Amino acid sequence: MTNTVSQEQEALLRRYRESHLGVFGLPGLVLTHGDGARVWDSDGNCYLDLLGGIAVNALGHGHPDLVAAISEQAAQLVHVSNFFTTPAQIEAAESLLRVADAPEGSGVFFANSGSEAVEAAIKLSRRTGRSGLVAVGGGFHGRTVGALSLTHKEAYRAPFEPLLPEVTHVPAGDVEALRAAVDEGTAMVLLEPIQGEAGIVPTPPGYLAAAREITREAGALLVLDEIQTGIGRTGAWFAHQHEGVVPDAITVAKGLGGGVPIGALVTFGEELTGLLTAGQHGTTFGGNPLACSAALTVLATIERDGLVEHAAVAGLELARGVTDLAHPLVAGVRGAGLLRAVVLARPIAREVAVVARREGYILNPVAPDTLRLAPPLTITTEQLAGFVGALPGILEQAAQEQP
Ligand SMILES: *Cc1c(COP(=O)(O)O)cnc(C)c1O
Repeated sequence: MTNTVSQEQEALLRRYRESHLGVFGLPGLVLTHGDGARVWDSDGNCYLDLLGGIAVNALGHGHPDLVAAISEQAAQLVHVSNFFTTPAQIEAAESLLRVADAPEGSGVFFANSGSEAVEAAIKLSRRTGRSGLVAVGGGFHGRTVGALSLTHKEAYRAPFEPLLPEVTHVPAGDVEALRAAVDEGTAMVLLEPIQGEAGIVPTPPGYLAAAREITREAGALLVLDEIQTGIGRTGAWFAHQHEGVVPDAITVAKGLGGGVPIGALVTFGEELTGLLTAGQHGTTFGGNPLACSAALTVLATIERDGLVEHAAVAGLELARGVTDLAHPLVAGVRGAGLLRAVVLARPIAREVAVVARREGYILNPVAPDTLRLAPPLTITTEQLAGFVGALPGILEQAAQEQP
């Protein structure tokens, strides 16, 4: 089956363009509904969603438990402000602390996005009395101005300079460079256990442990950005748990709400949790019961259905399947769990994504030679095997169209 885009869908996309800022470029499709790992466009074409809203739709589309939870919560309370709280907010925080293995005295600050979780981390770090910030080459931490200051990509940063001062970016994976950059002026080191936007690039084994030791010695905070890697995505609740490293805080978002916007800063231990005190930070929508009921349901469903283990097993099977194709256009597979990159032997990721879409697969060309896969954690091994079977044909068609 080959999907085509009708004139009606083209007309909707034109209306999008005429009513929005162009910051995202033109969307590829107008989507109307989904079921599990499948979505449909406004022409009725069906796609296997191998991007999952960029690692967001942890439970897939239309999950009955998520639909029920947010429907019931919406009928009770959608929002109450932070002058009040709700059972959903309390239970979501407790669940998050539990799956994060956070020690006694840890705490959650709920925000509405990943960038806002990072902003909260920056403010937390300032409460150490220091102001130096260290991040890593290729790192992505969001687009708000504070978070953007820690994001590395020049094209994202340059139009908005000057950004925050005293930010140092060190080469990724280089322990000695990190050691040299961190001193008694460093408030925080922020890094992703697996760099998502850089193309699913894991930190080398031992790097997180070294970062822990370096920051502890210098008295700086180690904050891990688990916004993309968290919530079971890599086959652990959080990617740093694979390495047994205990950070000072983590930032969470994307998968947490299963598609309902929510972010969180989790501070580990009493000392860290006490750094931000009453009145020093806030947000109107953060912790609202609708988003928190979604988060609570996402965490409970992942736990009940063993989706962390499923992500590990299905992700390994996917990686093996692609590797075993031994296709000349595939240079390798990176990542962990259901956060994977298929690295191509030629810079034709964009063309591959276009052909894949025609063939009914949503893929993300995260770099010129790299496809990102971050499907719902509920995707079946049969669905993944179907994609692996279709991949050679998609690659060959793309290579032919872009010789
Ligand atoms: C997506 C992402 C962010 C930013 O989250 P938003 O919700 O888009 O603000 C920050 N860090 C990482 C690692 C991400 O993947």
